[in-house]
Amino acid sequence: MPVSESHILVVSPIRPRHMDELAAKYILHRWDQAADKDAFLANIADRITALVSTAGVGVPSDLIEKLPNLKVITSFGVGYDAIDIAACTARGIRVSNTPDVLNDDVADTAIMLLLATLRNLVVGDQWARSGQWSENGAMALTTSARGKKLGIVGLGRIGQAIASRAVPMGMEIGYFGRNQKPVDYHYDADLIKLADWADVLMISCPGGAATKDMINADVLKALGRRGYVVNIARGSVIDEPALIAALKDGVIAGAGLDVFHNEPHMDRGFAKCANVVLYPHHASGTVETRDAMAQMVVDNLQSWFASGKLISSVN
Ligand code: NAP
Repeated sequence: MPVSESHILVVSPIRPRHMDELAAKYILHRWDQAADKDAFLANIADRITALVSTAGVGVPSDLIEKLPNLKVITSFGVGYDAIDIAACTARGIRVSNTPDVLNDDVADTAIMLLLATLRNLVVGDQWARSGQWSENGAMALTTSARGKKLGIVGLGRIGQAIASRAVPMGMEIGYFGRNQKPVDYHYDADLIKLADWADVLMISCPGGAATKDMINADVLKALGRRGYVVNIARGSVIDEPALIAALKDGVIAGAGLDVFHNEPHMDRGFAKCANVVLYPHHASGTVETRDAMAQMVVDNLQSWFASGKLISSVN
């Protein structure tokens, strides 16, 4: 039997072991599993004080409106672009996310995509696997990371973890963001100028309205035909039709992408580009990191019900 009478709506579940832990402590309502969601909600809406979701699924705004006593949303993931934070704040609903615990795996993925793109890993794998190596000899030469300029769009927790890996690889670091940070890297308040300066543009800022299509045709043109884009932030930050055109037309040299518009229904145009390395939004997708993220959801709820405080609040 749950030890608490608190009713929690599950919009998107976290890891199974952590769901079991929540079920032992609270009364869970599995909205995610309900066939008729409105009918399901009608009987319980008044009792819901807390909600669990994941960054990819977010929380539909009309659902928040249907929960008159909702006080807290705990989201699994750092990005909260799929939750209307302004509407939550206006209603006094507190929102938590799971920052920091995923920095290392996401930054490792960013570097993995950077190297895989510059060094043509997927093409090389196919070259060896298909027998072209034995039939045709060595594959074409690739490009070094060492000595290149890495322009980071959004030097936050993850952006800084990426920079700290790229520096010992011999890369020079620059960044763009709303604010200059107390770091020694080259800062540019103009994104086009940063793209012009950079050999590799690394996207690690939040998604949402403020950054929508920020990496557009002009930015890609400034990056230039020897330039590369790596995106581990959100698909929405890049104008995808412009990126696919730039990859096809040689406006830029290549791209490494973990995130896309309309996931998981990625634009198939990317699959036709040989100069792109694709990863299915899996930058934090390790057992260790996903467990740590799930634990933060559990801990945020525990802290909220014990003291009315969140350990990682967004608003
Ligand atoms: P963070 O610490 O809040 O850093 C975000 C950075 O972006 C800050 O340096 C901020 O700097 C900058 N920024 C914010 N708004 C901006 C804007 N309008 N234009 C330009 N720069 C802006 O967040 P984080 O923990 O590093 O996470 C960053 C993002 O990575 C998340 O929001 C999430 O979407 C994404 N992410 C993806 C994965 C994945 O699996 N691929 C996993 C985790 C996170 P200023 O304030 O100076 O602008």
